Amino acid sequence: MSAQIRATPAEFDVARYRADFPILAERIHGKPLVYLDNGASSQRPTAVLDAERRYAEHMHANVHRGVHTLSQRATDAFEGARERVRVFLNARSSREIIFTRGTTEAINLVAQSYARPKLAPGDEILITWLEHHANIVPWQMVAAATGAKLVVAPINRRGELELEAFARLLGERTRLVATAHVSNALGTVLPVKEIVALAHARNIPVLLDGAQAVPHTAVDVRALDCDFYAFSAHKMYGPTGIGVLYGRESLLEAMPPWQGGGDMILSVSFTGTTYNELPHKFEAGTPHMGGAVGLAAAIDYIDGIGLERIAAYEHGLLEYATERLGTIEGLELVGTARDKASLVSFTLKGVHPHDLGTILDQSGIAIRTGHHCAMPVMEYFGVPATARASFAFYNTRAEIDVLVEAVAAAKTLFG
Ligand code: PLP
Repeated sequence: MSAQIRATPAEFDVARYRADFPILAERIHGKPLVYLDNGASSQRPTAVLDAERRYAEHMHANVHRGVHTLSQRATDAFEGARERVRVFLNARSSREIIFTRGTTEAINLVAQSYARPKLAPGDEILITWLEHHANIVPWQMVAAATGAKLVVAPINRRGELELEAFARLLGERTRLVATAHVSNALGTVLPVKEIVALAHARNIPVLLDGAQAVPHTAVDVRALDCDFYAFSAHKMYGPTGIGVLYGRESLLEAMPPWQGGGDMILSVSFTGTTYNELPHKFEAGTPHMGGAVGLAAAIDYIDGIGLERIAAYEHGLLEYATERLGTIEGLELVGTARDKASLVSFTLKGVHPHDLGTILDQSGIAIRTGHHCAMPVMEYFGVPATARASFAFYNTRAEIDVLVEAVAAAKTLFG
């Protein structure tokens, strides 16, 4: 067992890490900020902010096309960030790393470029009930355009995927499986290795939506053996507007570009265009260079702490929050999967989640309330919305105490 895995919460110097995040010192309505909305967007440490600033102050120019020094610096920084992502995901080649605006754009890329040309009427795309809208709507759009069907694998009352039912839904017409690695609404960790093995046994490729997984767990695309993996920088302590699509090189090679413009071409004339090679074929137009640099810095930052240590510490927070919230009368946890990432979704009898969110804000506590862009999950549990507290490694048990006291007080107020 490595030293990292042996680390206990007591050895995790959370105060030191908190000091890396300037925004955590903010006061909201006169109270110390308790930021528990990390599932929506996490905060950026100074190391990331500094890297973005350094890029802007010393390296910024347009990439790939210039012969001047700044353009070369920008290109080196951007391509260096791509290599950093490759190592982070353990991909074979940086040709497999496509920069996108985020998870949503990465999934749309696969839907339009991989799936759409392949789908015929009656073909099927298999997803699960746990998906974020970003992993539902792009498939509905290609299904509508091609006559293909969206098939949805069921979940149980804990919010876990029914793996046997999923296996039965893999059929002759299944052309692609697209599933979350971790559910954003419930925190469920899906059995993605088993999912990939089941699909591959039938030669069906698998896309994993890793938006909620990358901040909490080490992802190795070769070990997972997935065909596509999508994530966003802003949920893993990086900037907004940048994300990644990992794709297996043989699949990406065979896919047509999905957007046309500069950078994705080798030559253009009015009689025809030759497309650029991977990964540039999928990156039309000027990319978000500063964002890519920030993402690479975020990866360096979390690698410096160690994702195993982060996972162990956050697991402690999850257990503590689950236990403490469970003591509040009328509070019901939504999503009690045996394998969960560090978030809790809940309802409070007699208090609408939006009212709860507004009241908690008065105490400086930021949680998310609503359907979490996962309306089918809400429908399954028969609730219009939940309150969701999602934890990062910079959160503390003391903050969970503040949350629990504020929720209990809200219950008394309305109760
Ligand atoms: N997939 C999951 C599981 C998510 O949680 C999110 C964002 O909440 C997305 C996709 C969409 O990510 P983005 O808005 O960064 O594209």
